[in-house]
Amino acid sequence: MKKIIIGNFKMNTVPSEFKPYAMTLATKIKGTKNEVVICPPFTHLSMAREILSGTQVLYGAQNLAEEERGEFTGEISASMLKDLGTSYVIVGHSERRGKFKETDKVVNKKIKTALANGIKVVLCVGENLQTKTSKQANAFVRKQLEEALRGLFENELESVVVAYEPIWASGTGKAISNKDIVKMVETIRNFVGELYSEKAGKNLNVLYGGSVSLSNYKKIMSIDCIDGVVIGGASLDVDNFALICKEKY
Ligand code: PEP
Repeated sequence: MKKIIIGNFKMNTVPSEFKPYAMTLATKIKGTKNEVVICPPFTHLSMAREILSGTQVLYGAQNLAEEERGEFTGEISASMLKDLGTSYVIVGHSERRGKFKETDKVVNKKIKTALANGIKVVLCVGENLQTKTSKQANAFVRKQLEEALRGLFENELESVVVAYEPIWASGTGKAISNKDIVKMVETIRNFVGELYSEKAGKNLNVLYGGSVSLSNYKKIMSIDCIDGVVIGGASLDVDNFALICKEKY
């Protein structure tokens, strides 16, 4: 089965390191049936266009401005990303929500801006440890989804991939149990089913992200109800990442 595999470099690697990485990845994953997307920092994207055009590696951004253009010093707009051939953009990552105080309203606006410019969205949702231990995770994620998807039409969900990234599992080296992933993915599908239609919930692309690595990806990918994974730290090693990307699932 085809899976979507997204590499989130976060604020790691410099542009000169990116060239050999991208060339190696494109060569190593040739022929894969999976959809492979790397999201390096903004500074690497024009190089990504040069190296990756015509290969099977798609590339995305890790963020975008909520505004289209104007007096927003330091911001990067959706049309700039589109012009560079960017296929995807990550929106609502827990690091942006937490460290940069991005609200659900901002997330919603960014999603609309990306979609209006023909860029697919990886919408990240997920609870922290405190929310999980107080058994509020389902309600929390439902609220994040409700706010993020507000005003979107059902047909636009084809361009939205939801990534369940529990904050307490990210960067810890320990992914959560398959049982816990299945439970939340079902919650997400059911909720989108309630918001739109059963078909929308069933067809939604839902990924898992949080400490996926060479040692656990097979176990995680064996979960039928997920359409793929987001990989942070482990995407930085091109040989390991390529192995995960070219596997048949
Ligand atoms: C992420 O934060 O998007 C992520 C998947 O991180 P990691 O794989 O490093 O836990």
